[in-house]
Amino acid sequence: MAATLIKTIAQELHVLTPADTAEFEKYLQRWSGINLRRPAAILLPRTEEECQKAVHWAVTNKVPFTAKSGGHSLYSTVNYKGVVIDLSDYAGITHDAANKTAVLWGGVITKTVAVELAKDGCCTTLPAVNAVGAIPFFLNGGLSKNVAQLGYASDLIVSARLITADGKLIDVDEKNNPELLYAIRGAGQYFGLVTQITIRTFTFEEALDNSRGNVWDGRFIFPVDRVQEVCEVMKGIVSNDKYAANGLIMVGAPPPARKPCIAILPRLMAKDPSTLQQEAFKTLYDLNPLISGGGEVHIANAADALDPLGAPGGGYKKLVLTGLQELEPDRFTEVTNIWQELTTSHPSALSTTFAFQWDSRLPKPAPFESANSMHNVQFWANNMTWCTGGDSVEAAEAALQKVIGVLRGGQREEEYVDFANSLRGGPVERRYAGEARVGKLKELKRVWDGEGVFSREFL
Ligand SMILES: Cc1cc2nc3c(=O)[nH]c(=O)nc-3n(C[C@H](O)[C@H](O)[C@H](O)COP(=O)(O)OP(=O)(O)OC[C@H]3O[C@@H](n4cnc5c(N)ncnc54)[C@H](O)[C@@H]3O)c2cc1C
Repeated sequence: MAATLIKTIAQELHVLTPADTAEFEKYLQRWSGINLRRPAAILLPRTEEECQKAVHWAVTNKVPFTAKSGGHSLYSTVNYKGVVIDLSDYAGITHDAANKTAVLWGGVITKTVAVELAKDGCCTTLPAVNAVGAIPFFLNGGLSKNVAQLGYASDLIVSARLITADGKLIDVDEKNNPELLYAIRGAGQYFGLVTQITIRTFTFEEALDNSRGNVWDGRFIFPVDRVQEVCEVMKGIVSNDKYAANGLIMVGAPPPARKPCIAILPRLMAKDPSTLQQEAFKTLYDLNPLISGGGEVHIANAADALDPLGAPGGGYKKLVLTGLQELEPDRFTEVTNIWQELTTSHPSALSTTFAFQWDSRLPKPAPFESANSMHNVQFWANNMTWCTGGDSVEAAEAALQKVIGVLRGGQREEEYVDFANSLRGGPVERRYAGEARVGKLKELKRVWDGEGVFSREFL
């Protein structure tokens, strides 16, 4: 791209080019190194007006661009023909505790939202990792340990301000452009650059059943060869809706020990979760795990333990979530075998984890129709391939496909569900279920972004 063209926007807002070596590299970083490309420039708007200028400039000059908030997807990257509009320097939150709504803007990350809401004794649906960009999380569904109590994050969007494909800044709410509200509640990343969203918040009491703002997070560690009996016991826990419990059954080699194990990582929400967990997870304690423990954690800090997992860099990393209908111990045992084969033959894939994610209760239904079609999914395969060396990438990809095939073994193809905010490779119908929904989203895309400025999805 011509340097003269970049100079025109550099007169209006802060712009980094490859010549700004260290700073450019810093803003280029993403959670994963997969397909990470180098743009001609990184635009760093500091206000909503500057965001609009950036999009308007790119659209007018036919410069391909992508927005970037937390950098946790594989999609906030573009090559030398385009620019990244990086929202890191335009980021924040205000909370209206009386009305239980919060306005999030720009590249605000999860942790900031959690901390600010907690100051008022409140919380909302947030992801498992602190550094994930809050707005993209809300826009494409937003799966969380709170969905059964509070609903998917996209169901909590009240309104938004959005820059359209022709560079206009518009309001989106029940009165203004309501059809776009339908779209951004689940498929928002494909319809514009969202500068702000207003979301619903909840008191600790409403969300967690106690006013201290605490949840109980535990861990039960077993040797891998006990996977079958552990899963048999977990079958009784994962759908026992007497308790507000959720978590992961995971095969991996977590730090610091780095020893292969089956880890059960449950969360319990209750008035007195420390006491109730003894009853809720009694059958797990009875299995005599190698390690068992846990404790109350404040909701604002509940994602801190996963900070290393959410950090940028570290090679070839990919998080893939696939909808499942039940926990089948035989299948998870087979998954464990695949993990062992992979990590034994390819030690640089040792950070890979394959997990079954459960919630003992279904996601809270939404009182309106929207792009989000994941309300009937209670269980997910949560698989993260992580290769620290290029030698294991092919084997890890093959193992991942095998694992997904095994876990989906009992499903008909038309039942397949891919998590909307994970990978975009598969058929769109797996992320957005139902002909009517896909048809409506295609029509909205044609009307609002027929040229595919915000990706070709739905065109
Ligand atoms: C370690 C890890 C843990 C995760 N945990 C969860 C979880 O618990 N629950 C869950 O639901 N998801 C989870 N995710 C998925 C995550 O929510 C999505 O990948 C999300 O899109 C990442 O947002 P980001 O801002 O960090 O990424 P980015 O790569 O910055 O952005 C993601 C996409 O949104 C676009 N975008 C960025 N900002 C805007 C904007 N303001 N307006 C419109 N489009 C924009 C980008 O162009 C890109 O296409 C996790 C991902 C990882 C890697």
